[in-house]
Amino acid sequence: MNGNPNGNSPQVDVEETPVQLVGFGPVDLYQKREKIFTRYVGGVFQRLRFYTGWPLLVGYFGLPWLNWGDRQAILFDLPARQFNIFGLTIWPQDLWLLGWMLMIAAFGLFTITTIVGRLWCGYTCPQTVWTAIFMWMEQVAEGPRHVRMRLDSAPWTWEKLRKRTFKHAMWLGWAFLTGLTFVGYFTPIRELVVDLPLMSAGLAATFWTLFFTAATYVNAGWMREQVCIYMCPYARFQSAMIDKDTLIVSYDAKRGEPRGSRKRNATDHGLGDCTDCQLCVQVCPTGIDIRNGLQYQCIGCAHCIDACAEVMQKMGYAPGLVRYTTLRALEGGKVHPFRARSIGYAGVCLLLITAFGIAAFNRSLLTIDVLRARDTLYRETADGQIRNDYQLVLGNKTQQETEYVFRLLRPDTLTLDIAQHVRVAAGGIENIPFELVGTSDTPNTSATIEACVADGSACATEETRYITPMTGGAR
Ligand code: SF4
Ligand code: SF4
Repeated sequence: MNGNPNGNSPQVDVEETPVQLVGFGPVDLYQKREKIFTRYVGGVFQRLRFYTGWPLLVGYFGLPWLNWGDRQAILFDLPARQFNIFGLTIWPQDLWLLGWMLMIAAFGLFTITTIVGRLWCGYTCPQTVWTAIFMWMEQVAEGPRHVRMRLDSAPWTWEKLRKRTFKHAMWLGWAFLTGLTFVGYFTPIRELVVDLPLMSAGLAATFWTLFFTAATYVNAGWMREQVCIYMCPYARFQSAMIDKDTLIVSYDAKRGEPRGSRKRNATDHGLGDCTDCQLCVQVCPTGIDIRNGLQYQCIGCAHCIDACAEVMQKMGYAPGLVRYTTLRALEGGKVHPFRARSIGYAGVCLLLITAFGIAAFNRSLLTIDVLRARDTLYRETADGQIRNDYQLVLGNKTQQETEYVFRLLRPDTLTLDIAQHVRVAAGGIENIPFELVGTSDTPNTSATIEACVADGSACATEETRYITPMTGGAR
C-alpha cells in the first residue's frame, strides 16, 4: 500500500524485499506499516468510553487487593493447584468448570456481536482501553497530532529526547503496574509488592512481571492497531457473526455523496453532506476510512462518529452522516434485532449458564481414591482373619478444615478397619491407611467404601477389590 488514508507520512524504514516471479513484476512480500497519528476527538461516544473504561480499570487493578475471608478473593494459585474465585475453589478435577466458563464467555460474546457488532472491541477490550491510555499519555508528552507529526520527522534534539523520554517513562510505568497486577492474580499481591523491590519475589514471579510489562508496553505503545488487525482472532471470525441486522459504525453514502469541500453557508454546490474534511480518517485508531464501507479493521470505537458529528454541527447539517446503524437500515429496510442467529446464540448461552449453575452447585466437595497396598495381596492373621491393606486418599475441596467419617457400604461379609474420624486441612489431601477384614470363608469380592463429611453434608464413594487365598487371589 503506498498511499496512507490516514493522511500520515510513512515512517517505518523497513527494507522492502521485492520478489521477482517469472513473467511478473516485483511482488512485495510484506506491507510497510503506516504510522498512525490519531487526532484527539471528544463527543458523546468518547465520554461513554471514558465511563465504561473506568470500571474495567478499577476492577482490574483493585480485585487482587480484595480479601475473601483470610485470603485473596481472586487467586489462581498454580503451585497449590487451586483457583480461588471469591467463595469458589476450583481444583484440577474441576477444570471443566473453567472450560465451561470460557464457553459461556465465548457464546456471550457471539450473542453480543450478532446484535451490536464489535461493541466489545470498541469499549471494553483491554487492548483498546490500554491503547487509548497510551495515546493519551503520548498526547500529554508530545502534544496534539500536528505537533507529534512534526516531532516525529524532526531530527533528534534535546527537546525531542526529553519529550520521548517522558512518554516512554509514562508508558513503562503504566505497563509495569499492569504486569505487576496481572501476576498478582497468581501470587499473593501484598507479598509481591514487598518482595519485588527487594529482589526476593522468586524467579517465576519476577520473570512474569517483567514479561507482562514488556508485552503491555509493546502491544499498547508500539503495535496498537496491528494487534487488532493482524493478531486478534476475533477480528477475523466476527465477520461470520455479522449480518445485515447487526449494529455497525457506518457512513451513509446516499446522504454523503458526492463528497467535496464547500463554503460553510453555500447551498448551491450540488454536493452531498460529506465535506471530505478527512477528520473521520484522522481520528481513526486503525487508520481506515469508514467511507469505504464495512471493513474488518474497524473496531467500532465510534471516534469517526464523534468527529463527523462535530463537522455536521459546524456546517449546520443534521448529525448522523456517520452513525451506528445496520446495513439493512441503510438500504431502507426494517431492522430485526431478534433473529434466528441471535436467538440461537443467546439460547445456547442460557443453556450453558443453567447447566453450569446446576453442575457447580452439585459438585462434590470431597474427592476419594482407594489405592491397594502393592507389597502384598492379603495377610492371614493368627486368629484366622484375612486382611487386605489399602490407602484412602481423601481431598478436602472446601476452604475450611473438615472432619470426615467412613463406612463400608457393601458387602456385609467384610468389616472396615479405619480411623473413626479424620480431620483434613482446608484444601488439603490426606492419605489414610485402612484394612478390609474377612475370614477364610469370605470369597473374592468387590467392596464400596464411603467417606462423608462428619455432619453428613457431602459424601463420596469408591469401589475396590477384596482378595482372599480362597480362589488364588488373582483379580
Ligand atoms: S468527518 Fe464526515 S464530513 Fe468529514 S470526511 Fe468524514 S464523513 Fe465526510
Ligand atoms: S472506522 Fe470509525 S469506528 Fe471504525 S475503527 Fe475507525 S474510527 Fe473507530
